[in-house]
Amino acid sequence: MSDLIQQVYYQNHLIISDHNKLKLKLLHYVHEFSVEGHSDCTKTLDLLTCQYYWLWIYDMIQRFIASCHICQQSKIFKEAYNELLKPLSVLKWRWKNIIVDFVIELPSFNSYTNIMIVVDCLTKMRHLILCFNIIVSSVAQLFLINVWKLHNLSDLIVFDKEMQFISAFWDKLTKCLQIKAHLSTTFHSESDD
Ligand SMILES: [Zn+2]
Repeated sequence: MSDLIQQVYYQNHLIISDHNKLKLKLLHYVHEFSVEGHSDCTKTLDLLTCQYYWLWIYDMIQRFIASCHICQQSKIFKEAYNELLKPLSVLKWRWKNIIVDFVIELPSFNSYTNIMIVVDCLTKMRHLILCFNIIVSSVAQLFLINVWKLHNLSDLIVFDKEMQFISAFWDKLTKCLQIKAHLSTTFHSESDD
């Protein structure tokens, strides 16, 4: 991972060249999960260019926000009622609510073709973790080494994955940590006890 970062970092910015999928993912996270939620073009640009840069980045942000149906609905709502929407509730603790997503089928780097992206909802800090594959045991192991070891266990982990994967992930994770799972009905049809 460090080799990859050294290669693509320039002046503290991760330069994204022609990975449109990755650009869209990053844009999605920054725009949708900023503290205010669905920030405007300027704010989204500010947040994104704290860490990343690519050519025509502002054009892409404008097009992205113009096609965001939540922003468009919010615009209509604001115009109709002439008042601001309430901001999303602000979280108190780091790494308690996190989002896990995957960018898959990237060009191979040392045989790695996937990246697991783990984002802290409060700080927007993220870990980009290289993966050989997206199978539950590997993902759980990488999660333990790269996330749990640093930040302990989160209260809420939102996956962009089907329920079967999420359930198996929790099962594997809790077995590794030797703790008993109490999954909410959101994740599982019933808790373990
Ligand atoms: Zn939006």
